[in-house]
Amino acid sequence: MNEDIDSLVHLLKSTRRVAVLTGAGISAESGVPTFRGKDGLWRRYRAEGLATPSAFHQNPKLVWEWYDWRRGLIASKEPNPGHKVIASWENIFPSFHLITQNVDGLHQKAGSKNVLELHGNIWKVRCTEEGSVSENYQTPLNEIPPRCPDCGALLRPHIVWFGEALPSSVLQKSLLFSSSCEVMFVVGTSAVVQPAATLPYSASEAGAKIVEINPAATPLSTYADFSFRGKAGEVLPLVDERLRTASEERKD
Ligand SMILES: [Zn+2]
Repeated sequence: MNEDIDSLVHLLKSTRRVAVLTGAGISAESGVPTFRGKDGLWRRYRAEGLATPSAFHQNPKLVWEWYDWRRGLIASKEPNPGHKVIASWENIFPSFHLITQNVDGLHQKAGSKNVLELHGNIWKVRCTEEGSVSENYQTPLNEIPPRCPDCGALLRPHIVWFGEALPSSVLQKSLLFSSSCEVMFVVGTSAVVQPAATLPYSASEAGAKIVEINPAATPLSTYADFSFRGKAGEVLPLVDERLRTASEERKD
């Protein structure tokens, strides 16, 4: 891994445009459950049965109770060193874009300012009548289900549910930044969930080098130019440290 990190750092020293795609793995390192499969069980419900427009339509109170529980869990979690390195890179690379599949807001908590959230954000609510989006960090919520302070209609989580399309502007920007970067990091994601899974391939087709950081091999592993089997919170600080040492040497 050391030699790989050296050659990656060598590449990064002359890189100006970087994109990063993150997924559930980097949040899991901070203790956030994936809320899928057995991790997703709450009372007797599965995530797949609650995170849908029809579940919300049938029982908004139940869906909000679930989100209230999740928000409480996430509020107690802190960003890990992987999140922090990614946040600091906004100030290192002239063009830096972070695309995440995570909804927990841990990137922002680590200091990232420009985050493209493919699946929304659990700390945002949307008016079901007006479509207006606002931040809401109240945990636990005062009122379940919460209502819009402007018009009194139901608020819903600003989250992309099963069966819903990703916000097209976010998706378009993500595709643009993926296909125009020189290096793309793919961190903590199995890179199989569409349409996020297409981003590394469009980056690679446009000539970018792909750097995968994930504890387990994924379909992307053989395709990636660099593939680190490890945690984001361990690999990214190693890369960052060598990169900063290298740029110090360059100044001398
Ligand atoms: Zn409203």
